[in-house]
Amino acid sequence: MINKKVEQAINEQIKHELYSSYLYLAMANYFESIHLPGFAHWMKVQSEEERGHAMKFIEHLNDRGGRVVLQALDQPPADFGEPLKAFEQVQAHEQKVTALIHALYDIAVQESDKPSQTLLQWFIDEQVEEEKNADLIVNQLKMIAGHPSGLLMLDRALAARGGNEED
Ligand code: MG
Repeated sequence: MINKKVEQAINEQIKHELYSSYLYLAMANYFESIHLPGFAHWMKVQSEEERGHAMKFIEHLNDRGGRVVLQALDQPPADFGEPLKAFEQVQAHEQKVTALIHALYDIAVQESDKPSQTLLQWFIDEQVEEEKNADLIVNQLKMIAGHPSGLLMLDRALAARGGNEED
């Protein structure tokens, strides 16, 4: 049976992961509207991945006799500005999620919840990847600033992102 404090904190994190999925779906639709289908595709894959993160936490609570209580999600923005501005928002969002995962890990340690610590180790590693991916695209967008042909090339590259990754 999972500890109540950890259960509550994981329920909060499920909300954050589902909001991430919602935010990236909003960004996908924004990129469709500004004629960058490769960026939109990348965001759709990212949105699915975030839903997968929520499901990992949901399964963890259910496997351990916890209770999943889904919470209300905030409405995401509809407009995100220039592609660089949008990806700076991705970067900031992922930094925030990293801090939330680290705080959740600290709670699991305080409560001596070893299975949750193991699960959260995966998320700690995953956040390193998420921040790395966001940082790379932000830096590439800065590199091609003022060059539409560069933006179109990056759009083609992002269109190639695979959608069947386990995480
Ligand atoms: Mg996530």
